[in-house]
Amino acid sequence: MGRFLSAAAIGMMVAATAFLGTGCGGQPSSPPGAAETASVAGEDYGLYCKEHGVPEKFCTLCHEELKESLLLCKEHGDIPEDICTLCHPEVEAKYDLVMCPEGHGLPEHFCNQCEADPAA
Ligand SMILES: [Zn+2]
Ligand SMILES: [Zn+2]
Ligand SMILES: [Zn+2]
Repeated sequence: MGRFLSAAAIGMMVAATAFLGTGCGGQPSSPPGAAETASVAGEDYGLYCKEHGVPEKFCTLCHEELKESLLLCKEHGDIPEDICTLCHPEVEAKYDLVMCPEGHGLPEHFCNQCEADPAA
């Protein structure tokens, strides 16, 4: 039994070797590279911050310096005006914003109502 198995294994190895030897002429089958793409690019708002559910260019949580260049909504917790869904309800769909699960009407990670509520 053992002899039969090893014979079969050798037979397969020989077949495989023969196949490889007579197959392609040693051409490398690796892809030509440049296959690395950002996970979510190509939308009209550019890169998306998946961590905070807003476009990267409005994510003041990742980029503190954006607070100086973006217009902030003082009324709703100094979040970027561009993603203030209380002032501009249409940006929720426009930027695929992840909204506050508590129903406060602001992007989840930018919700000043949740921050003010210790029970949350
Ligand atoms: Zn972020
Ligand atoms: Zn606002
Ligand atoms: Zn909230």
